[in-house]
Parts: sequence; structure tokens; C-alpha cells
Amino acid sequence: MPIDATRPYDPDNIFARILRGEIACDRVYEDDHALAFRDIAPQAPQHILVIPKGAFVSWDDFSARASEAEIAGFVRAVGTVARAAGLVAPGYRLLANVGPQAGQEVPHLHVHLFGGKPLGPMLASR
Ligand code: AMP
Repeated sequence: MPIDATRPYDPDNIFARILRGEIACDRVYEDDHALAFRDIAPQAPQHILVIPKGAFVSWDDFSARASEAEIAGFVRAVGTVARAAGLVAPGYRLLANVGPQAGQEVPHLHVHLFGGKPLGPMLASR
């Protein structure tokens, strides 16, 4: 069920629970600012989610409220994960869903990294 990205942060969302260690994940990277793990329902041979450790609902919320250190740390972590996964030379797609029309389901900012095959057109339909 897509979420309303303008609502306040829900500390019981599933990614918050993963950050607290209450739910397991297939972790690929972690540092002070970010955690990366494999998507539970992969839509490409490589499908990794990168999330900031702070409580942010969406890219919109993050870009408005995060500190410079949080923004730099998260953006650098996304790049680090992509390089470590070997995605840069073949190419990859970076995607963040924000709100209902994009189909955002988890109300904690996450970017999707897709790769491992030619990914086709950017959107399936217009
Ligand atoms: P979005 O639609 O952009 O909010 O994407 C949410 C993503 O989180 C989906 O691709 C789900 O498959 C993924 N997801 C949901 N729960 C988990 C989980 N426990 N571990 C890993 N990925 C998850």
C-alpha cells in the first residue's frame, strides 16, 4: 500500500526495525550514516536498497531536514555500495520512490540500486 510521504516518520516501519536489529536483513554494507541490504523481492539480478540511519520518510524529507554530514554520508555510501557491487562499469539504475504516485511502500528513505542486466526503458508505461 503506497504511503503518504508528507506524514510524520513512523518509528515502527520495517526499515526502522531492521536498523534496530529487530528484523534480519541480507546486509551488504554499513557505516555511521547508512545501511545497505538486498531487496527481499529483487526486480533485477542485483537489487540493493541503501537507507540512511536517521529517521527520514523520503528523499523529500531528507533533503529538507538532514544535516550536511548526513547528506554527504548517505550519498557517499550509495556510491560506495554501487562500486563494491561492481555496478559502475556495466551500469546501473538508481531510483527513489516518493509518495503515492511513485508507489512508495516503506516510509523510511531508501534508494534502490538495480543492475546485473540491461534494464530497459526508464519507465514501463507513460
Ligand atoms: P518502495 O516501493 O520504493 O517503498 O520499495 C520498498 C522495497 O522494500 C520493495 O522493493 C520491497 O521488496 C522491499 N522490502 C520490503 N521489506 C523488506 C525487507 N524486510 N527486506 C528487504 N527488502 C524489503
